[in-house]
Amino acid sequence: MSDYKKIKEKLFYDRKNGFLRLSDETIKEAFDFCEGYKQFLNIAKTEREAAAAAMVLADQKGFEPFSRDKKYKHGDKVYFNNRGKSVAFVVFGKEKAECGVNITAAHIDSPRLDLKPNPLYEDIEFALFKTHYYGGIRKYQWPTVPLALHGVFAKKDGSVQTVSIGERPDEPQFVVNDLLPHLADEQSKRKLSDGIRGEELNILIGSRPFKDDEGSELVKLNILKLLNEKYGITEEDFLSAELEMVPAAKASDIGFDRSMVGSYGQDDRVCAYSELAAILEVESPKKTAVAILADKEEIGSDGNTGLNSKFLSYVIHDICLNDGSDETVALRNSSCLSADVNAGMDPTFQDVMEKRNASFLNHGVVVTKYTGSRGKYGTSDASAEYVARIRAMLDKAGIIWQTGELGKVDGGGGGTVAMYIANLGVDVVDLGVPVLSMHAPFEVTAKLDVYMCNKAMYEFMK
Ligand code: MN
Ligand code: MN
Repeated sequence: MSDYKKIKEKLFYDRKNGFLRLSDETIKEAFDFCEGYKQFLNIAKTEREAAAAAMVLADQKGFEPFSRDKKYKHGDKVYFNNRGKSVAFVVFGKEKAECGVNITAAHIDSPRLDLKPNPLYEDIEFALFKTHYYGGIRKYQWPTVPLALHGVFAKKDGSVQTVSIGERPDEPQFVVNDLLPHLADEQSKRKLSDGIRGEELNILIGSRPFKDDEGSELVKLNILKLLNEKYGITEEDFLSAELEMVPAAKASDIGFDRSMVGSYGQDDRVCAYSELAAILEVESPKKTAVAILADKEEIGSDGNTGLNSKFLSYVIHDICLNDGSDETVALRNSSCLSADVNAGMDPTFQDVMEKRNASFLNHGVVVTKYTGSRGKYGTSDASAEYVARIRAMLDKAGIIWQTGELGKVDGGGGGTVAMYIANLGVDVVDLGVPVLSMHAPFEVTAKLDVYMCNKAMYEFMK
């Protein structure tokens, strides 16, 4: 090797594609891992479904619901179910909790169209649902996409009726309509952000009237009759429902080489699944391992199932009670990987990124030191010392990783749950998977990155 090559290899930061750095065996493991990931995406399209699916998998691995009446020891596995929308999985460590716990935190809510409390109406002999979008969607992307309805009706008698319609081949689907180009001259003059307005995101749900010679709103009546037969509900029951319209498409491989995964809801179920699969394999950790699947991240983490609540503190509190640890000391000594996606460099839209600091698909799991916007507002900005620790851990385990920043300076920005956990005194850095078309009805990730995320989560909690 020439001197130039030798010294360059020593001094330059290597940023080669993961396919050129990983063994064929590891690449195959990554592709295999994503088969389970795609299945998870298809059965976990809402936070409730993701939480339920995660608890089913955990039950099979010996996890049980936490109880204050029990005394847990090293290797015991429990979970804290927060209203069926957010879950914390715990594997007790060898050390006391006040020596610090290792936390991973992903979110299981994704952008979508929520039904309004009074959604059902009829107009010119069509039945429709009014919606209020959830999270940061680009509204123009959602019309003419087949949609499925997921959620619950909570009835006055205390019973909860689960709804999932539009996923199976024999089930109907739903859609938001858009104008035909022939008549879209006026609409086409709108700004893209205004191309489809919030109050235009109405869901088409029926057109067949109840057969009667008199009366009005016969299409709406017919829909209510069908819903009553299937779910035992009346129109008033929509008032205490949580119903979400999500893209009906299934997760699939993307590309002739099948190197990528396309699906709705990969922000952040890609990290949620990676993290879940990791803690399910943790058997005998030195420090107690905590894997959180959180709700409400897409609307700012507020609410009692979001991470800007006391949920995590209460979990740590209960873990500390088990071995007589001090909660404050435990938090101060704890570390966290905030497991969320970052924006991957898109070949068609490169100019919103600064390519020296952007993340790339197939370049491994992305460590994001800070998120936020306009001069690092709204972020926790991990300390150099903590990033160094994570760097060392990833390199030692042979995990391909990269750094990332959410777009150019002053180009926009965004946040994650990292700052809420950092506010508890915990060391936190963001670590996740780069994604294309983030928040769209169909997002793209790379299989290698998904698997590297899983390995990083495992390495951190094992
Ligand atoms: Mn996210
Ligand atoms: Mn998001």
